[in-house]
Amino acid sequence: MTPKLVIVGTVALDDVTTPFGSVSRALGGSAFYGAIAASYWTSVGVVAVVGTDYPEEGLALLASRKIDARGIERSSEKTFAWTGEYTYDLNTAITRETRLNCLLSFDPKVVEHYPRPETLFLANIDPEIQGRILDSLSARPALVALDTMNYWIESKKEALLSVLRRVDLLTINESEARMLTGEFNLVRAAAAIREMGPKVIVLKKGEHGALVFFEGGVFASPAMPLEVVKDPTGAGDSFAGGLLGYLTRHGRITPEFLKQAAIVGSAMASFCVSDFGTAGTKSLTTEQISRRIGEFGDLTGFPRIDAGERRL
Ligand code: AMP
Repeated sequence: MTPKLVIVGTVALDDVTTPFGSVSRALGGSAFYGAIAASYWTSVGVVAVVGTDYPEEGLALLASRKIDARGIERSSEKTFAWTGEYTYDLNTAITRETRLNCLLSFDPKVVEHYPRPETLFLANIDPEIQGRILDSLSARPALVALDTMNYWIESKKEALLSVLRRVDLLTINESEARMLTGEFNLVRAAAAIREMGPKVIVLKKGEHGALVFFEGGVFASPAMPLEVVKDPTGAGDSFAGGLLGYLTRHGRITPEFLKQAAIVGSAMASFCVSDFGTAGTKSLTTEQISRRIGEFGDLTGFPRIDAGERRL
């Protein structure tokens, strides 16, 4: 059976240092984080590549979430490896090293594994690969979403601009949106990106939440103020996984569903940052997720305000 949501991206081994500790060769990658978060909401398949050094534990974790991993190829090279660091500015990842390894020769086979996904998420990966995937599709999914990062904006901007023309929804960090458009103001940056192709723009603002721009409106979803934040790695992918998982489950992309989906994304991201790697997201219960979504309601709901004219 074809999963409803197919995610193409990296499955990685991450070395991460934050002010609160560090992990070495942690299970990560854009598709990995995205798939785990989305798996609480819909059926998910992953298309990615791993190398000879990839531990079985990673595939076992995907299996424990009933994620279809038939699309994960095993290469004779080493696994994609990312080394990153966060200072007390937890909103900005500092990339220390990116070893593309098996990603260099990766030729993803989406249709072969998953002929008709309802939603295709081109998670953060080389934009040339993202473009090739769209070329290979025989039928267009109802929703095509894309994520990217500064690394690709700097090294492959032309390829990125060309793939952007073909997607419906883009998730991007605020600094990357500025880098992509040359616009400092985020409202203008979002408008400029909409001109480039995607009609829904999800601007991720780290601990300040996310802004979702859509036809005729914008919605602000906060980040949950948490007492313990350990590692922001994967927060963006978890956000996207939650958002797209929710939209796919309901098959509707109206402003109402986009707003709900943004809260779901924020909830999944809040679990992600609470611990290193996927420790915060890999084994949640429905009760924990519902409670967190309720907390978002408490955080954002306010009583009606009467702005009646002051009597002089
Ligand atoms: P984020 O959700 O933005 O924090 O993404 C974190 C994940 O992105 C990490 O698990 C990394 O393995 C992965 N990553 C880092 N650099 C790249 C890159 N250039 N392309 C694709 N994935 C990457």
